[in-house]
Amino acid sequence: MICATRTAAGMMPIHQQGPLNFPMISACLFRLLVTLLIIPAWNLTLFSSPLRASTMKPAFKAITSMAAKNLRLTVVYDNNPYKAGLATSWGFACVVKGSEKTILFDTGGTSAVLLANMQQLGIDPKEIDIVVLSHMHGDHVGGLDGFLKQNSQVTIYLPAAFATELQASLSHAGVKVIGVDDPVMICSGVYSTGILGSWIKEQALMISTTTGTIVITGCAHPGIVHILKLAQKLIEDKILLVMGGFHLGAESKPKLEEIISDFKRLGVERVGPCHCSGDPARSMFKQAYGNAYINVGVGRLIELP
Ligand SMILES: [Zn+2]
Ligand SMILES: [Zn+2]
Repeated sequence: MICATRTAAGMMPIHQQGPLNFPMISACLFRLLVTLLIIPAWNLTLFSSPLRASTMKPAFKAITSMAAKNLRLTVVYDNNPYKAGLATSWGFACVVKGSEKTILFDTGGTSAVLLANMQQLGIDPKEIDIVVLSHMHGDHVGGLDGFLKQNSQVTIYLPAAFATELQASLSHAGVKVIGVDDPVMICSGVYSTGILGSWIKEQALMISTTTGTIVITGCAHPGIVHILKLAQKLIEDKILLVMGGFHLGAESKPKLEEIISDFKRLGVERVGPCHCSGDPARSMFKQAYGNAYINVGVGRLIELP
């Protein structure tokens, strides 16, 4: 589900359209169902039911002791350009290397763009151990099926409400689906915030490093500040970096100022807004954060000690 409507000006993401109305919600719901249904080759015999992620009763102290070292985050899909020669397209995907497992966070809108960019960046799909889907919008899950054709030996973490449908739709042998509700450890030092949001269910990724915690968001539909407050509560660590879609394309300047103040108050050290963050928000964050602002677009590599 791309959750966008076609206008005279072309495809406008819902993130930029202001409040949802009922027909739009219906259209989005319909597209969501279509997204789930079009994943081909139904084969129920491979799987009975998805696994449920066990609840992480936050053992916060353990999180920092498992901190990832030499972390490398590569943005492989984004609508903002960064590195020449890569395709930009509406959506988001990021590869996390250096943690216990190699993770693909979201898959962008189409597998053609995702796989071409990964190839350009020298990332073999077979390197990926775990796929985390932030939420079930087409610009984050659209590349999944094509990706699985390249590598089906992965575990997929996604909002539990969609796990059964996805599991039932997969024919790729080896895929394990884990439905997430509560915060959960994905691998050593890497956690899901658990599912947030009342209408659009979404999870964000938290990675514990030796110098603080990184939060990666897909679209941040439940609210970027809300996500950060929860992440900080879960992990009891300073937030070193927040990157991904902040979902601020429709926000007013005063509201953006308020959000940036909240970031500062929460002690967020570095920011890398991309995808659905919106250009006004990106430039205001850039102004507020100076050298601690990271220009994130497709091909951006962020390395942390
Ligand atoms: Zn979305
Ligand atoms: Zn999105």
